[in-house]
Amino acid sequence: MNQTVKIMTPGPTQVRENVRMARSFVTTNPDLDLTFYEEYKTICDRLSALLHTDNVSYILSGEGILGLEAACASLTEPGDRVLVLDNGIFGKGFADFVKLYGGEPVLYTVSDKKAIDVDALKQYLQENHDFKYATVVHCDTPTGVLNPIEQICPLLKQYGILTVVDAVASMFGVEIDVDAGQVDILCGGSQKALSAPPGLTMLTVSSDAIQAMEERKIPIASFYANILTFKNYYKDKWFPYTMPISDIYGLGAALDNVLADQNIYVRHAQIAEAVRTAVVEAGLKLYLDNDYCSTVTVIEVPKDVNSAQFLQHMTDEYGIMIAGCFDYLAGKVFRLGHMGEGANVDDVVAMLDAMDQTFADLGYLLKCSMKDVFERAIKQV
Ligand SMILES: *Cc1c(COP(=O)(O)O)cnc(C)c1O
Repeated sequence: MNQTVKIMTPGPTQVRENVRMARSFVTTNPDLDLTFYEEYKTICDRLSALLHTDNVSYILSGEGILGLEAACASLTEPGDRVLVLDNGIFGKGFADFVKLYGGEPVLYTVSDKKAIDVDALKQYLQENHDFKYATVVHCDTPTGVLNPIEQICPLLKQYGILTVVDAVASMFGVEIDVDAGQVDILCGGSQKALSAPPGLTMLTVSSDAIQAMEERKIPIASFYANILTFKNYYKDKWFPYTMPISDIYGLGAALDNVLADQNIYVRHAQIAEAVRTAVVEAGLKLYLDNDYCSTVTVIEVPKDVNSAQFLQHMTDEYGIMIAGCFDYLAGKVFRLGHMGEGANVDDVVAMLDAMDQTFADLGYLLKCSMKDVFERAIKQV
C-alpha cells in the first residue's frame, strides 16, 4: 500500500500511533482468560460514559454495517411495521435490513438537503404511529446532513416507538447524549471519528430494547447479528464467539485518546465551519442547504470537472485522499473528511492546499485559495 497517502476521507480515518501499538500487544485467549472479560467490560463502560448513558454497551466483531443489521435483526419480527426516516442514502438503506428480517418498512422520505424537520414529523406521527421501532441516521455521510436525534427520538418514544440510530459517522465528532436523547440502540463504527481501523461496531442498548428482544414470539433469525447473545457475557463469562482481542485493545486506546481530548467537539465544529467558509468563498457549492455535520463537508463537483480524474490526480500528485460518493451522488460530489485524527488544522490546510492545486492543474479557476481562507477563518475563532 501507499504509505505516504494521507487519508482525509469521511472514514476510514488516520490511526494514531498509540492505537496501532495497542493492536500489537501480546494477547491472551479471550474466551478462557477471565481478565479479558474485565478489560472488555471496562472499555464498554467507558464507551457508555463518553456517550452519556447508563445503557449497556457492546462491541461486536464486524464493521459498522453489522451494528445496523444487528439492531434490525434483533428487533424485527416478521410483520412488524418499522418507520424508516429517510433523508439520505444510509437512511433509506435501513429499509433493506428491515425487509431481510421480515419487517414492513414504512418510509418517511424528505429532502436530502437538510435535516428532518421535527415539527413536520410530529404532525405525521399524530396520524401514523403504529410502529414497533424507527430508524434514523445521525449524520448521513453521503450528504453530511446532521439530524436532530435529541429531539426526534424522544418524540418517537412518546408513542412507544423504539429508536435505532446510525451514529457511525458522527460518534466522537459530534457530542451525543444517549440518555437525554432516549436513544434505544445507538450504532457506531471503529473507523470513523474514533479513528481506529475498520472492523468493529459499537452499540449502546437500552433496557426497553432488550425487553423488546426478550418478548419476541419468533426467535431472532441470526446468530452473529443477535444482540441478546451478548446480554450475559459478563455474568456467564462467555462470549458468543471469540472476540477480536487486538482490535479491541486498539479501540480501547482510541477511546483513551477521545477521553484525553478536552476540546474535541469544539475543534470539530470550528474546523468544519472554516472549511465551509473556504469552500463558499472559493466559489464552490456546498451540497446541503443547512444542518451540516462537523465531521464531513460535501461539495458539488463543478461542471467541467471530472470527479474520478480529480480524486486520482490529487492522490497521485499531492498524496492526499478525499472521497467521491456512490449511489445517486456518484461523480456528483466530493466528500472532505475532517473527523477524528483528521480534525486538525495542519491536515485540513494540507487537504485544501492540495485541492487548490488540483483545481489549478485541471484548469478550473477558483475565486480564491481555499487554504488561505481556511487559515484566516480558523485564526479568528
Ligand atoms: C461509514 C458508515 C457506515 C458503515 O458503512 P460502510 O459503508 O461499510 O463504511 C454506516 N453508516 C454511516 C452513516 C456511515 O457513514
